[in-house]
Amino acid sequence: MIGVSQMNVARCSLLIVFLFAPCAGKLGEGMGNDKTAVENMPSGLTAEALHRSIAYLSVFLQGVSDGILVQDHTGTVVFINDAGARACGFASAAEMRATPIADVLDKFVLLDEAGQPFPIANLPAQRVLKGMAANETVLRTRSHNSREERWSVVKATPVRDAQGAAAFAISIFQDITERKRTEAATRFLADASTVLAKSLDYETTLQQVARLAVPHVADWCSVDIADAEGVPHLLAIAHVDPEKVALAHEHRRRYPADPDAPYGAAEAIRTGKSQLVSAIPDDALVAGARDAEHLAMLRALGLASSMIVPLIARGRVVGTITFVSSSPERRYGPDDLILAEAVAARAAQAIDNARLYRDARAAEEQYRGLFAGVGDAVLVTDAEGNYIDANPAMTELVGYSVAELHRLRVGDLTADAEDGFARAIHALPDDAMRGEITLQRKDGSTVPVEGWITSITGPSGALFIGTWRDISERRHIEEERQRFIAMVAHELRNPLSSLIGYAELMRRRERYDAKAVETIIAQGRRLERLTLDLRETMLVQAGLLNLKRAPVAVHALIAAAIEQAHATTTRAIHVDMPDHLPPAEWDADRVTQVLGNLLLNAIKYSGEGGDVRVQVKDMGNDVCVTVADSGMGIPPDALPRIFEPFYRASNATDGSARGMGLGLPISKALVEAHGGEMWAESTLGRGSTFTFTLPYHPPSAG
Ligand code: ADP
Repeated sequence: MIGVSQMNVARCSLLIVFLFAPCAGKLGEGMGNDKTAVENMPSGLTAEALHRSIAYLSVFLQGVSDGILVQDHTGTVVFINDAGARACGFASAAEMRATPIADVLDKFVLLDEAGQPFPIANLPAQRVLKGMAANETVLRTRSHNSREERWSVVKATPVRDAQGAAAFAISIFQDITERKRTEAATRFLADASTVLAKSLDYETTLQQVARLAVPHVADWCSVDIADAEGVPHLLAIAHVDPEKVALAHEHRRRYPADPDAPYGAAEAIRTGKSQLVSAIPDDALVAGARDAEHLAMLRALGLASSMIVPLIARGRVVGTITFVSSSPERRYGPDDLILAEAVAARAAQAIDNARLYRDARAAEEQYRGLFAGVGDAVLVTDAEGNYIDANPAMTELVGYSVAELHRLRVGDLTADAEDGFARAIHALPDDAMRGEITLQRKDGSTVPVEGWITSITGPSGALFIGTWRDISERRHIEEERQRFIAMVAHELRNPLSSLIGYAELMRRRERYDAKAVETIIAQGRRLERLTLDLRETMLVQAGLLNLKRAPVAVHALIAAAIEQAHATTTRAIHVDMPDHLPPAEWDADRVTQVLGNLLLNAIKYSGEGGDVRVQVKDMGNDVCVTVADSGMGIPPDALPRIFEPFYRASNATDGSARGMGLGLPISKALVEAHGGEMWAESTLGRGSTFTFTLPYHPPSAG
């Protein structure tokens, strides 16, 4: 049917004047059947023809899809058709006519396009009646009862009397509610798509989408997420009436979704199919309610029409989105379902993206954790030779931050004359390279490293992952070992040469030589001492030092050890020891060895004329023994290192004092094995003092 709005409004108004001019102020009275109107007709029309025209017109005007409202100069409604009545929230013109005029305006609220109250005085018809210009106006009428909103474009035109004054105003309402709903739906789809594309936090995003749907496309909208068993869990809900949100949550809490229900979100998750229920009859609520309270709750929620659409991502149902209309005027149809499915597709995509992103983040975090946590230094280089990543072990090793490394290129970190690293990267086919290189630190120092480079193909091309380990310690140990072997060879050669020399002398002379035999025995003892020290050092380093504890007379043991040392020297040994000391449980040979080492060092490293002092103190649980000499002393920089195996300070290496640097480390290890401590103090040129404490009993013995 052609809308009146598409007709010439002036022509239409002329017809209406003919019809209604005489019945002003009588809403509901006869439709243009008044004789006066006919009598006032322009000449040329017969009364009969006119009546026929009027009858046609009244039928015509009732039937047009646009609303037509005629008011007289006082503003009183003299005619309204069904469409006009519907725009005002009435079922028909008849119902509106039956309503007292005072109540008509109470039926609905008038709003402007933005939803603000619209003053009656600004209505186009009112302006026209006052002789003012009236523009086409967009109006919203919201029914008090159903809260349903209808949108109209209203135009008004005056019908003037002979003097040119506005006798009537004819308003034509074009109902644009459907258009507005489509616009709202389109806007909702666009807004929802923007929101869904914007954030990877899908919980918040879906909450926003649910809110966007209300009130333009639904009175309430909810989103459920399916768990591994396909059970829906309410993630987001929005309702025109915020109080109903609490009710909806309460409903879910008290009546959790039945995963086997043949309807609702569970069914949509199971089948992956949308459910459109255009009209939900009360019977359906009765049938679906689990008890009377449940039914009351369902009725309170307001369920007039619904759509439940599965959220499907990569073929898997991840949840559902539900749109519910509470007003019987808004019933969902296939077009609405198309919109809902479009939103659902975007929502599912958003959930999927967010989950993929979360998985990727978790994997990245795991990788980062491993990357940061490994003790080896890891350096990642791209195919162009740029450093693109490094773990904390690497930055610590070279002293450059990751940002600084980004500005360097392959080769900048290697101190080798020939750039092994760069060469390796270019020569690397698919196999890893393994080897040792020297890295150049930011401070200019170098560090030897061993490592391997592997290549992987990343999304943006080949990457080379170099894993490096600082081998300074190993190099140091290797050097120490070589030094040690050289020293052992040297230390063994002297006594052995002299031993062999004296033995050959006796063989040549073919007679016993007491001096030669004494020398052979002395050198043999030295060799024995050396080999014992070596063995002891190996045991200490391997953690295999076993003590053979037995009851020991402490006083006698110390006195014997001093006596033994005294026998090797002409030097005076001053002893300050209590007459009685408690008995102990020690490995007597080892404690004797410790004291012997300190006394021999004191003798060895103090010049001619120097003396040696031994002080023994009973400390209650421990004995404290101090061996002091007035010799050359130990250089301060060497003092912290004299307990390291094979370390010999310059005072030993410069002079003629023999040794392998094993006596002190062995002594300290033996004291500590007994639960005691050992330390040294020294003043260069004035002497050294070595002290150790030994508990009389092992800790467990109490
Ligand atoms: P060594 O076989 O060289 O004597 P030690 O382990 O007994 O080995 O001693 C390590 C180093 O400590 C010695 O080489 C020497 O430099 C220094 N040292 C030890 N005792 C004394 C001391 N009483 N006076 C000066 N230097 C000492």
